[in-house]
Amino acid sequence: MSISLKVENDVGFIEFDQDDSKVNLLTSDMLRRLDGILDGIGTREDLNTLVVVSKKKGVFIAGADIKEIEAISEAKDGKAKSQEGQKVLNKLEDLKIPTLAVIDGVALGGGCELALACDYRLATFNPKVRIGCPEVNLGFNPGFGGTYRLPRIVGLAEGMKMILAGRPVPGGKALKTGLVDALVPEEGLSNSVSAFIAKIHKGKIPRDKYKRKRKKKGVALIFANSLIVQYLTFSQSRKSVLKLTKGFYPAPLKTIDLISKSYYAKREKGMDLEAKTFGELAVTEISKNLVQVFYLSEKYKKLTPKDADGIRPAAIEKCGVCGAGTMGGGIAQLLSSRGVWVRLKDINHGAVALGLSAAAKIYKGAVKRRKMKPADARKSFARISGTLDYSGFGNADLVIEAVVEKMSIKKSVFKELSGVVKDGTVIATNTSALSVSEMANEAKDPSKVVGFHFFNPVHRMPLVEVVATPMTSKETIVTALAFAKRLGKTPILVKDTRGFIVNRVLLGYINEAGRILEECGRMVEIDELMTDFGLPMGPFTLSDEVGLDVGIKVLETLAESLGGRFAPVGSFKKVFEKGLLGKKTKKGFYTYSGKDRDPNEEIEALLGDNDFRPFDAENYRKRLIYLMINEAARCLEDGVVDDPGAIDVGMIFGTGFPPFRGGLLRWADSVGIANIVDDLERFTNKENRQQFEPCAYLLSLRDEKKGFYGA
Ligand code: NAD
Repeated sequence: MSISLKVENDVGFIEFDQDDSKVNLLTSDMLRRLDGILDGIGTREDLNTLVVVSKKKGVFIAGADIKEIEAISEAKDGKAKSQEGQKVLNKLEDLKIPTLAVIDGVALGGGCELALACDYRLATFNPKVRIGCPEVNLGFNPGFGGTYRLPRIVGLAEGMKMILAGRPVPGGKALKTGLVDALVPEEGLSNSVSAFIAKIHKGKIPRDKYKRKRKKKGVALIFANSLIVQYLTFSQSRKSVLKLTKGFYPAPLKTIDLISKSYYAKREKGMDLEAKTFGELAVTEISKNLVQVFYLSEKYKKLTPKDADGIRPAAIEKCGVCGAGTMGGGIAQLLSSRGVWVRLKDINHGAVALGLSAAAKIYKGAVKRRKMKPADARKSFARISGTLDYSGFGNADLVIEAVVEKMSIKKSVFKELSGVVKDGTVIATNTSALSVSEMANEAKDPSKVVGFHFFNPVHRMPLVEVVATPMTSKETIVTALAFAKRLGKTPILVKDTRGFIVNRVLLGYINEAGRILEECGRMVEIDELMTDFGLPMGPFTLSDEVGLDVGIKVLETLAESLGGRFAPVGSFKKVFEKGLLGKKTKKGFYTYSGKDRDPNEEIEALLGDNDFRPFDAENYRKRLIYLMINEAARCLEDGVVDDPGAIDVGMIFGTGFPPFRGGLLRWADSVGIANIVDDLERFTNKENRQQFEPCAYLLSLRDEKKGFYGA
């Protein structure tokens, strides 16, 4: 039974337990059944309380059915869909008897909205409790009354923040904001529910949920109710959203407009505005793209290799990290924050100290931003210990090598490691572009060697490229993928080829930006071309972040095995030879002083007295992005990955490729492969540059009139 009514004495329990599913979803069918049950309850005289509960472990209701929303193609159908949910939840809100939602897990989107329609909400201390409305992340607004009820229950500023950030909150925060009325232990939940119901009937907690929040007194109450303050909340929210999204995402902006009207309206009008906005947003291309990105991210979070049924990942409790530099320090911090004991090794005390202080800095930041309690940060940091030898590595379940990007050094580290680790220890390399197989050949057991490519900064970047060599065992891959998931990362599984996916696609693009710079001399405008497209930064800013020395090294590695199209262009070499490495030397394509950044005037001099061409924005943008698409197609042709989704996940989570465009290859499909091939051929002829020559994979898609994602 997916939803049922159970009666115990004078209390009715609506129990959600969706058939054949780990979670409950508020599908149309569920809503219809709920509607029927509510009609029945409305006519009963024997009930004095209604409790809404879930029988699923760790889940109250995970949301509406995204598939149903994805299928909406007309705004009027979207509006009707929203109204269908609103009608049922209004019925729940209008019941004569008090209603209570008991939340012992995730209550998201429609699930949160259902809880908001109840008079009371009670949550448990279960760490899985997360309550909120993440809809804006999918390009639409909450549509089952959430935009009307949430700001009224938790206050305008807090409600707006929750809806606009789309970030669900844990139980503690929910209690603090008034989103839930009490937190109780998971054990003995039914007793706590009974006790809460007794309190309700003794009149100890007023039934009007909108008035309950107004326990603020004096100045605080006047402040919250002041029209000027409310006006400022809306205008400040608009400003922050614009700063964060650069106006690329319509959902948060339209949601602010909606709440700025519905907050002063009666329920019927407020709901009508919400449904209308939902209909308009749900049919936008941006929303459709964001939904696809959501599916991809869910798919890759659960990634397992083919034919690996029954293979269990090895338990990872203790790790060794070799190299305490930029990456090693970050990796040690991440592992320790997830409960893993870490031995951090480098070749001198100074380097180890730097790695430890980098990890400490990340913890300090987390405490400052209130993401972590000081005691938890201290406890986690204490899991890292530094070393100059391999002591402790004999107990490690996994070792991550993050020493300098030089094959001879990596090989000697692999050889040394093989002498100290126990049988079964997985050895992972964080190399950016070198051959993992070559390192594996130095190991005692190459089947235990895998690439585990984090991105910088490790604690923020959500992607890990897991690199399998022909020798890597299925068990090692399963272990690596499971470990990536434990670290909260999204993995893609790639074949051991130079640059894997992300660096291969990205570095060719950065190199092309260097060529364009030589042609037109307009660095800032080239950067802006890409930020205007939605990338978080332009190619020269990115190059400064990564360091030109690192970029050139990776380009050279790529050129060695993939061909001359990756050979670093002259402008990059000149800038590198001048020692303008980027942020780390305070001078690169830009100069850095404190928080200030300015274009580096030395660059113009380095480019010389060229006869610059006029700035051709449209073709330059096409050259930069189509080159990435062509390289991505080559990756599919070479079998580096077997699914365009892996490339889109890699580019979105590894480089910040704009999710609202759906990913590099989904965007390519929207432009049309034939159009892209035409332009690439035009560039090949005009520029006579082989990097534009459309690859066989792209040509066959064009000939078969297909896109990367099918017809
Ligand atoms: P880094 O130069 O900051 O740090 C490397 C550290 O390795 C140094 O502290 C060095 O002393 C140490 N080291 C050298 N030989 C060693 C040995 N035998 N044993 C132990 N430690 C030794 O380099 P990084 O930027 O942290 O890069 C490390 C690896 O991660 C490289 O393979 C790099 O390609 C890769 N990577 C770097 C980035 C990035 O943005 N920096 C991103 C992804 C991957």
